[in-house]
Amino acid sequence: MGQGVRRIVLLTLGWEELPKAVSVHGAPADEIMVEPVPGVLLECDGGWLLLDTGFNTALINDPALRRRFYPDPAQRPILPGPGEPLDEALDAVGIDMAQIHAVAVSHLHLDHAGGLKHFAGRVPVHAQRAEVEYGLANHPEPERHAIYRIDFDDPRIDWRLADGEVEIAPGVTAVPTYGHTPGHQSFVVELDPSAGGGGFVFAFDAADLTENIEHELPVGGFIGVEPEATIEPIRRLKRIAGERGFQLIPGHDPREWPRMTAELAARFTAPGAASALLGPATSG
Ligand SMILES: [Zn+2]
Repeated sequence: MGQGVRRIVLLTLGWEELPKAVSVHGAPADEIMVEPVPGVLLECDGGWLLLDTGFNTALINDPALRRRFYPDPAQRPILPGPGEPLDEALDAVGIDMAQIHAVAVSHLHLDHAGGLKHFAGRVPVHAQRAEVEYGLANHPEPERHAIYRIDFDDPRIDWRLADGEVEIAPGVTAVPTYGHTPGHQSFVVELDPSAGGGGFVFAFDAADLTENIEHELPVGGFIGVEPEATIEPIRRLKRIAGERGFQLIPGHDPREWPRMTAELAARFTAPGAASALLGPATSG
């Protein structure tokens, strides 16, 4: 077993305005939310690993493509700035795109796979085989479920496909949480002892909101299964988190995501802060 993860940086790659029923099955259709689009950077042995890649800006900024790929006015993508969300988010945390040595996608929905274009032909991309096969083989059905082949059919993508649970980097394990999509995966992240140990479980869309986790509520999006089938993966993630003493983080929670972003940013600047507290004694 290798070393664990040394630093975690949460990114917000945009937002989406949508009915809460997209996240919680059966929620009132007129309850509208604005949810963050998540990305997670993990500093591993060998470089940074990026979990999920946000929207494909071309499909939003081009009016004709937008009519095709965002036909429902009730589900509105919001980009953070005028450029590429990944570039802007990486700039803000002082990490260069070239420092990302591998990518993994939880699943292929439009708000998670749209940035794969930045990595095609450059770095390995981890996913579940069931997800990629579903996305490529059943045209046009995936498109009706907001899985857009244009985001991931580039033959230059260096897929690393898994059939179930797999360690994709030292300290990072992909855990299948099928249901939301046919090959959805979540991630268990174990921190290196030098980074304080412990860890986190990133649910991504196996649980959009804190209430999906706390009240074990089915998510609103599911492919090929009944909504209730999305509860078992939530319980499994809770069990993994509970056994390890790790926190389980939902994928799209408008309060929890920014709160965790700030908490992790503070935690991983803490060593500097701690040595600053020691002051002149350490510099003598
Ligand atoms: Zn999704």
